[in-house]
Amino acid sequence: MKVPFLDLKAQYNSIKEEVLPAIFDVLDNTAYVMGKPVFNFEEQFAKEHNVKYCSGVSAGTDGNHIVLWGLGVGHGDEVIIPANTFIATAWGATLCGATPVFVDCHPESYNLDPAKVEAAITPKTKAIVAVHLYGQPADMDPLKAIAEKHNLYLVEDAAQAHFAEYKGKRIGGLSDACSFSFYPGKNLGAYGEGGAVTTNNDELAGKFKMIRDHGAVEKYHHEMYGHNYRMEGIQGAVLGVKLNHLGKWTDGRRRVAAKYRELLSDIEQIKLPTEMDYSKHVYHLFVIQVKGEEGKERSERRNALQKYLGENDIASGLHYPIPLHEQKCFADLGYAKGDFPVSEELAEQGLSLPMFPELTDEQINYVSEKIHDFFK
Ligand SMILES: *Cc1c(COP(=O)(O)O)cnc(C)c1O
Repeated sequence: MKVPFLDLKAQYNSIKEEVLPAIFDVLDNTAYVMGKPVFNFEEQFAKEHNVKYCSGVSAGTDGNHIVLWGLGVGHGDEVIIPANTFIATAWGATLCGATPVFVDCHPESYNLDPAKVEAAITPKTKAIVAVHLYGQPADMDPLKAIAEKHNLYLVEDAAQAHFAEYKGKRIGGLSDACSFSFYPGKNLGAYGEGGAVTTNNDELAGKFKMIRDHGAVEKYHHEMYGHNYRMEGIQGAVLGVKLNHLGKWTDGRRRVAAKYRELLSDIEQIKLPTEMDYSKHVYHLFVIQVKGEEGKERSERRNALQKYLGENDIASGLHYPIPLHEQKCFADLGYAKGDFPVSEELAEQGLSLPMFPELTDEQINYVSEKIHDFFK
C-alpha cells in the first residue's frame, strides 16, 4: 500500500465540478487580479474567523511582512519569534529591517513558551509573533499579558491554523493582527500562492489594504510606502469554493489524528503530540517524537524509522530539521547550538506522519502497523 504525505489530487477531484466553473468565471470576466471573487472570499473568511477585517494577499510570507510593516516595525527594532517555526515567520521581521530575536518553544505545545519570552525583551523590542504551529494555537492569554506589560504588539502567524480555536474561539482576531497562508499544502490551499491578513483594528486594516496595493487606496494616490502584494482573482475564486468545505476537512484531519492516537499510544519509544486543554488543534501536521537512545545521536532512531517507512511506501516529513537559530543565514545573530534545547530536541526527534483529510482508515492502520513492526 502507498501512503503519500499529502494528496492534493484527492481533494481536487472531490470538488472539481464546483471549482472549475468558478475558475472559468474569472477567466471569462478577465478580472485576473483582485476583483469580486477576492473581495467575497475576504468577507467570508473574516466572518469565519470572527474578525472584522480580512485582506487577501499574495502569500503568507507577504502577510507576515505586511502585519509588522503596518504596525510600524522597522530598522533597529527587535521582534520576538519562536526558534521552532518555518523561516517565513522570521522574514516578516527581516523584511522590515528589524532583527529577529528567538525564543524556545514549550515542551508540550511546541509553540512559543510564554515563560521564556520576558527574558528576551529589551528596550528595542517592538513585537511578539505567536505562531500557531502544526495547527495548534499558541497560549495567547499569557503572551497578551506580557505584551501589555511591556507595551509591545502581539501578532499571530496562523499559516498552519485556519479554523483552530483558542479557549473556544477561532484564532485570527486574538491579537493586533494575524497572517494566514494559502500555499497549496496548507489546511486551506489555493491553486498557486496566496495569503491573508486579518485584524479588528480599523486604522491597521486600512494600512494593510494600502500596503498590498502600492500604498494607495485611490489609484495613483500613494499615501504611504507599499508594495505589490495583491491576491489573484483565480485564487480568490478557488479559496471561496474551498472555504465552504473547510469545516468538513478540518473534522477529517481531527479524525485522522484521533485514529493515530488510538493506534500508536502503546509505543513507549514515541511521544505523540499533546492537544493542550486551551486549544482545538486542526492538525496541519501530526508530529510525533521518536525518542533518542542512550549513547547514540539523538536523531538516529528517528532517521531510521523514516527510512523504514519510506521503504514501505509511507511518506513522512521533518518539520523542521534545523531550528531558526542554527540556520546559516542567521549566523551573524550570534546564537549557538544549545541555546534552545526544546526546539533542538524537536528538530532531532520530530517526524511528521502522513496527514490530510482524505486519509483512509486502511492507510492509517497500515502506517501504524509499520511503525509497530519497526519497534519490534
Ligand atoms: C507556510 C508558512 C508561511 C509562509 O506562507 P507562504 O504562503 O508559503 O508564503 C509562514 N509561516 C508559517 C508558519 C508557515 O507554515
